[in-house]
Amino acid sequence: MCGGESASELLHCATCMTSSSTTPYPKTRFIFVTGGVVSSLGKGIASASLAALFEARGLTVTMQKLDPYINVDPGTMSPYQHGEVFVTDDGTETDLDLGHYERFSHITTGRHSNYTTGRIYESVIRRERRGDYLGATVQVIPHITDAIKRAILTLSDQHADIALVEIGGTVGDIESLPFLEAIRQMRFDLGRKRTAFLHLTLVPYIASAGEMKSKPTQHSVQKLREIGIQPDVLLCRSEHPIPKAQRDKIALFCNVERDAVIEGPDVDTIYGVPLSLHNGGLGHAILDHFEMEQTEPDLTPWEDICRKFRHPTRTVRIAMVGKYVQLLDAYKSINEALIHGGIAHEARVEVNFVDAEKIEKTDMDGLKSADGILVPGGFGERGTEGKIAAIRYARERGIPYLGICLGMQLAVIEFARHVAGIEDATSSEFDHHAEHPVIGLMTEWERDGARVHRSSNGDLGGTMRLGGYPCRLTAGTHTYAAYQRDEIRERHRHRYEFNNHYREQLEQAGMVIAGILPDESLVEIIEIADHPWFVACQFHPEFISRPYAPHPLFADFVDASIKHQQQ
Ligand code: GLN
Repeated sequence: MCGGESASELLHCATCMTSSSTTPYPKTRFIFVTGGVVSSLGKGIASASLAALFEARGLTVTMQKLDPYINVDPGTMSPYQHGEVFVTDDGTETDLDLGHYERFSHITTGRHSNYTTGRIYESVIRRERRGDYLGATVQVIPHITDAIKRAILTLSDQHADIALVEIGGTVGDIESLPFLEAIRQMRFDLGRKRTAFLHLTLVPYIASAGEMKSKPTQHSVQKLREIGIQPDVLLCRSEHPIPKAQRDKIALFCNVERDAVIEGPDVDTIYGVPLSLHNGGLGHAILDHFEMEQTEPDLTPWEDICRKFRHPTRTVRIAMVGKYVQLLDAYKSINEALIHGGIAHEARVEVNFVDAEKIEKTDMDGLKSADGILVPGGFGERGTEGKIAAIRYARERGIPYLGICLGMQLAVIEFARHVAGIEDATSSEFDHHAEHPVIGLMTEWERDGARVHRSSNGDLGGTMRLGGYPCRLTAGTHTYAAYQRDEIRERHRHRYEFNNHYREQLEQAGMVIAGILPDESLVEIIEIADHPWFVACQFHPEFISRPYAPHPLFADFVDASIKHQQQ
């Protein structure tokens, strides 16, 4: 049983919360990444970059994020507070750091790649109610910490050389303590050669003193030591390079090897971080700690990406029409995918965020200088009329348009209203009693055998079509020209769908169905005939774009925008 067993029993436990926790694959070494001093140090990007440095050495890597908040998953959290919800292929709604993990490596993340305090407690409470603990008092230590360890050990199933585990939050927070205790125990369970503690801190530059200060780092390490964790490697974030003497001082006071105090200066692009951390010696320090062979990474792909990013031959302007557009993290993956599309054509993509509600007041100024227009995903009615006006502007003026999820649904509504003559066309998301819901819930228009995503207990979580689905493309479309494939697989996160009752009418008016679910039941991509480039998809292509493999739709959207600019 799992109730407070010893370390070795735990590793063999068969009735675990998750799929199969067994003895951890003996080759897997665990790196635990913590952060100190302040939040927003770029722990996710640093962890992802470290994964890139290992992959560049031919090692296999897996990654996980442990989040101290109580939400069971981030699916219910506002993207305007917490940043975007990243969706994995297996349909898990996760923290946006997993997007960084996938973009910097070849990892496909999934349901075991993100655990929150809420999810851990939920599993323990469920077992307590089942009576699994046989009358024991259920406590943070050992029951919660054991559940955390089991979550971490699911990574071992992937038989990777390295498992990177990032702990969210900042050392010193009450919330993250059980996670820190769990990783402390993992060092005890698995030993020094199979576990490394990497701690990120901030070394601020105090202009009036003309000095960089190591004190916050010392205090943060003290905090870690109080709970029994002695960091093995320190990554010191700073605005400027940190002089050797300063790093040696940090090493002495923090009890860390001199070569294991690594500087992490600010870089102009996140894709420069793997190179910067390599130059700082991070990969070497970790290999040294694990007593692994010191090999040189092949970083040419990252050098190429940085060169193209830093030396664009042109600038292309994309207007992104959304609500609360000032919160950049809400559209993280789209912004990155646009950068990747730019890299594919040696173009710098300047994204101009346009507030949909301003457009509603017939202020089209934000669109006037745009070479391309993009409407991203979203929920709720607010701002939708402005987005529809922007889509009409793109359609009528032949400006390249990329619509994503809600941006596709609104494109269908716009076309239905202004081209097909269905004046009151809308989505049943905005009007439950709509006469013409060209976009609606699958259940509303009775799709036979549909995988309807409704939870049985009325929870908000998990009621959407989530994760990867196949899509068959129509030859001769812009979409087909982009992908050059008959069938693709893309990730979804939505409740509403194109209503098939209107399909024929819309096609007759000039809408092109460029992609459908292979059983022909759901429209996934639409285009508009006689337009230079108007593509709108029900899925989220941004989640699978990589800097080393720009997504075909983003690459072709940028290309079409360049051509529009040159007209
Ligand atoms: N609100 C729409 C739906 O639920 C679109 C969702 C989205 O853009 N991610 O279907």
